[in-house]
Amino acid sequence: MSDITNQSLSEILENVKSKKISSLELTQAYIKNIENAKKLNAFITTTFDQALENAKKFDNKPNELLLHGIPLAVKDLFCTENIKTTAGSKILNNFIPSYESTVTKNLWNCGAFLLGKLNCDEFAMGSSNETSFFGNVINPVGDQLVPGGSSGGSSSALAANLTPATIGTDTGGSIRQPASFTGTVGLKPTYGLCSRWGIVAFASSLDQAGPMTKTVSDCAIMLEAMSGFDEKDSTSINKKKETYSKNLKDNIKGLKIGIPKEYRVDNMPKEIDELWEKGKKILKNLGVQLIDISLPHTKYALPTYYIVAPAEASSNLARYDGVRYGHRSQKGKDLIEMYENTRSEGFGDEVKRRILIGTYVLSSGYYDAYYLKAQKVRQLIKKDFDDNFTKVDAILTPSTPSSAFKIGEKKNDPVSMYLNDIFTVPVNLAGLPALSLPAGIDKQGHPLGLQLIGKALDEQKILNIGYAFEKNCCYKNEIKKWWS
Ligand code: GLN
Repeated sequence: MSDITNQSLSEILENVKSKKISSLELTQAYIKNIENAKKLNAFITTTFDQALENAKKFDNKPNELLLHGIPLAVKDLFCTENIKTTAGSKILNNFIPSYESTVTKNLWNCGAFLLGKLNCDEFAMGSSNETSFFGNVINPVGDQLVPGGSSGGSSSALAANLTPATIGTDTGGSIRQPASFTGTVGLKPTYGLCSRWGIVAFASSLDQAGPMTKTVSDCAIMLEAMSGFDEKDSTSINKKKETYSKNLKDNIKGLKIGIPKEYRVDNMPKEIDELWEKGKKILKNLGVQLIDISLPHTKYALPTYYIVAPAEASSNLARYDGVRYGHRSQKGKDLIEMYENTRSEGFGDEVKRRILIGTYVLSSGYYDAYYLKAQKVRQLIKKDFDDNFTKVDAILTPSTPSSAFKIGEKKNDPVSMYLNDIFTVPVNLAGLPALSLPAGIDKQGHPLGLQLIGKALDEQKILNIGYAFEKNCCYKNEIKKWWS
């Protein structure tokens, strides 16, 4: 069989089911690829021995599960029982959880098993995977390019065939932006569809786990496997589990898709505009009705996000004090100095910046002016979407304002880095699902993505639109292997 790791998850599942390939052979093929891809720095931890054992076990069992015998690498923000979980931070460099996150447990219950833990921005704060304590991740698209962030290890590993599918987390774009930068599919589900239990928290009212895959069908399979009600997460939505992959259909005739005028931002590269036009044309040819809409509060989304997210982060990260787990400084003469030194040594610059901003906007005297105000604006942003979803089934926008940028290009300019999230953050503030689809390439041959935003819990519809789009877009990801 030609290289199995080039295939989509759906194709691989077929081949495992029909016994054209065993789970053991499949796992060995991925291990070989991972060993030859050290230059990408996509992995923080590998669990090869355990993966091989699991593969053998699944080869001896009847194939009845959705992900039977599939090795998967996951973002190192998901706690994995007895396996180091770092969140890309020095402060969790030695943290070995005694529990498994619900989302990863759901995947394992569907027959998948762990191949390794993927690099990410520290505590998922970043858009380029340059804030990780474990070093930059490289985009397989080009050796000078960032893979996006914060799920940069996930996007890089997926695009380089180091895992057949993966999962990331998205607080302000961290699944969709890296998917867009690597020519892969990424879905941020409705807030509450996937349990947050056992995921290292960044901003709890925005964080959501989701799939990153090569195709839309793969995305439906992964979402089906990972989602579901969890009583351990108080924000988990209690609803019947859906079978997204079975219900996938490509007839989208008659659907109404909104085109928001506020997403045409100043200085947007022409190529992004052209990509958007191309997307509209494809959908129109599929019988969709395009409707111009307005989301008037879009311009406040980024400033609102950069108040709410750091505020929640400063509170969530207060727990890292060196006492019960994680890095502990050996310096200091009393407890307070130990705390201070631990946090000063353990956190990187971007995380410190967020803690400072967050603490400031929550401090007495400023709370009303910043945090409370941001919460009110957040409601207006959500209302913009609610109002429009009475008229349209989904919304089409670009995923990012540019293709993958160069390593180091934005690192010393946080505002230009934050601007990269301009099209993705409104969705998190409103708690909605959104799918990033590979849709074209720029002049340099770097992938570009389009985003489909859906109503709350309307994942099936955006997956269906994405499925039809993918069949008609003819996007082909032709990454040339330069790293081994
Ligand atoms: N890039 C955004 C940030 O740095 C989003 C990160 C994320 O979604 N985890 O906050």
